[in-house]
Amino acid sequence: MMEYCYECGTRLRERQLEGEGMIPYCDGCGCFRFPIYSTAVSIIVLSPDKEQVLLIQQYGRESNILVAGYVNRGESAEAAVARELKEETGLNALSVHFNRSEFFERSNTLMLNFTCIADSTSLEGLNTKEVDKAEWFTFERARNEIRPNSLAKKFLLAYFSDIEK
Ligand SMILES: [Zn+2]
Repeated sequence: MMEYCYECGTRLRERQLEGEGMIPYCDGCGCFRFPIYSTAVSIIVLSPDKEQVLLIQQYGRESNILVAGYVNRGESAEAAVARELKEETGLNALSVHFNRSEFFERSNTLMLNFTCIADSTSLEGLNTKEVDKAEWFTFERARNEIRPNSLAKKFLLAYFSDIEK
């Protein structure tokens, strides 16, 4: 929990907020200070025929993950999905659809998992400064090739389980 107000530096105290319980409160500003965390999107990018999923490798690691990125202040999560996909791969996101979310403690980030359909399978626009490698996988291969024990894998397997229903 935050100890001091991020606006004025006053030590926060717990104060009852109706319907929310005990929330940190700043006497200096006269307002509640909810804990701060980041929000990011994680994207299951499907090929136009919805038969393949795009996995990428980043930061010199040779394991496959989903395209992901932080949501900017003032931006909707759906817009972040389209922007991140475009920035990292050059592809356009169609049919952006929310799946599920999970809080990732290690980076203090609420991860929002989406599915989108890419407008093409061409990887000619890949941003090689941000992405080391990108490859389309059949669902069966993606299941085995995505980084073990990752949140990306958890989201992907949950999605596969959704569409099998
Ligand atoms: Zn304050």
